[in-house]
Amino acid sequence: MTKRIFRSICLVAIAVFLACVTLFLFVLYDYFGNVQQRGLKTQTELAAQGVETVGAEYFEGLSPKGYRVSWISADGKVLYDSEADSSEMENHLAREEIKEALESGYGESSRYSATLMERTLYSAKRLTDGTVIRLSVAQSTLLTLLLGMTQPIIIIIVIAVVISFWLAHRLSKKITAPLNQLNLDDPLNNEGYDELSPLLRRIDAQQRQIRGQEKELRQKQEEFEAVTENMAEGIILLNTKGVILGINRAASTLFGTTRNSIGKYILSINRNLEISELLSGIESGVRKEKIIDLNGGKYQLALNPVRESGNVSGAVLLMLDVTEKEQAEQMRREFTANVSHELKTPLHTIAGCAELLENGMVRPEDTARFYSQIRGEAGRMIALVEDIIRLSHLDEGAEDMKRERVDLYDLTAETVKSLSREAESAGVFVSIEGESAVVYGIPQLLESIVYNLTDNAIKYNRQGGTVKVSVERLSDGIRLSVADTGIGIPPEHRERIFERFYRVDKSRSKELGGTGLGLSIVKHAARLHHAKIELQSAEGEGTTITVVFPEKND
Ligand code: ADP
Repeated sequence: MTKRIFRSICLVAIAVFLACVTLFLFVLYDYFGNVQQRGLKTQTELAAQGVETVGAEYFEGLSPKGYRVSWISADGKVLYDSEADSSEMENHLAREEIKEALESGYGESSRYSATLMERTLYSAKRLTDGTVIRLSVAQSTLLTLLLGMTQPIIIIIVIAVVISFWLAHRLSKKITAPLNQLNLDDPLNNEGYDELSPLLRRIDAQQRQIRGQEKELRQKQEEFEAVTENMAEGIILLNTKGVILGINRAASTLFGTTRNSIGKYILSINRNLEISELLSGIESGVRKEKIIDLNGGKYQLALNPVRESGNVSGAVLLMLDVTEKEQAEQMRREFTANVSHELKTPLHTIAGCAELLENGMVRPEDTARFYSQIRGEAGRMIALVEDIIRLSHLDEGAEDMKRERVDLYDLTAETVKSLSREAESAGVFVSIEGESAVVYGIPQLLESIVYNLTDNAIKYNRQGGTVKVSVERLSDGIRLSVADTGIGIPPEHRERIFERFYRVDKSRSKELGGTGLGLSIVKHAARLHHAKIELQSAEGEGTTITVVFPEKND
């Protein structure tokens, strides 16, 4: 800007100066012309007086320097000319100054001479005898004047240019100084040009608007971060090249990285091949989904392209932990396979026995055994189906079952009593000890717990063994424990016996009418009562399973 102002001032100064010089030259030229014309008139009048006084003798020996003197008769004939032979000169009657002098006594004119590049001034006066005396003088042209003044003009031009350069430099600096000192952070607090006020007011208004918008944006970003930070799902915002623009805490933890990963290429912090394959879809703008193994869990990754006015500008990578869902799915598949398998064996036995009976291939004395086998297998199936129904009921949360205050000791005593026949036929002595203890729970489930634990303690016992069932009140809960002197459980199986259909010895369990679901039901029922299960066992010596109910378990 300073440069432009400087250049403009220089140009204006030089242009004004040149215009002045030109104008001055014209005025000067005109002035000199007038002075010369007046001088010529005086000379003409003097010459006229001379001719009037002495007549033609006046011209004898006349040598006018710089002037040309002519004497013309009243009919235009040249009688004398100081520079040419008058007899050879043409008639001058038509010359403007002669015509004027003949008419009014005095005449003037000026003419350009094309060859000499100069102007000639004429002045003519009529004498009393009617003749006309004419004087002419050459006037130098503007160009001649200019050439004559070249040197001073050049000196003046140089001085003027230097002065205008210096002035222009100072002026331009002075003009731009207040502009350079403007404080745009506080536009309204500026002194300087009044003309800048509307602009500064506008800047101030726009700055306020920008600050407002910035605040709004920051707020929105903070809100977004607050929401995404506390989400269990991982979220990563990516640009089309796969560079991380945003990442929440869950995603950072999952990738074992920090928030500093913003600006890094996603594959530089996780080189999982499946993720890289998924990301190949960013630029094409196609939504992609995949379940992958990550950090020992299963994660569902969904890549959603982000579009801005039709073009893909990036993508959002959403990561959901589906480990439990996948495990539940796996368990369901295994459970269905196990159920089918468990039902197939008794059904085959029933079908086989029935076929033999139908075809009369069983001896009459054996029929009773066959019928009892059919009944036994059907009973196992019923027990299995009942356990499955109970278990699926528990899986759904058993919400239709009512909770109430139950005396666990009374309930245990009754359940143990209902198992007395089994205990007797197994040759096992079952005893119950303890005290009245009230649990707020679901009676049917509490009964299932006691029944299954006592039943197992009888089943997996030895002839003449014992089972001790006890109910105890603790300072912070109620403890039910079932201790037997049975075969015990090998350490490697202890963790798994609570799984569905898991048995240490499959054939022994089946022989004893076990379904492999008893302890699963105990585990589920205990969980619904917020109770803890503990297992102690020694091979060949016995097993003690304890269930501790918290004081409040609703
Ligand atoms: P089952 O119907 O086979 O008894 P459970 O789920 O009740 O199924 O028990 C799972 C397995 O745990 C049993 O098959 C058995 O091998 C073992 N088990 C359970 N209770 C005892 C116990 N008191 N003593 C020894 N083994 C036991």
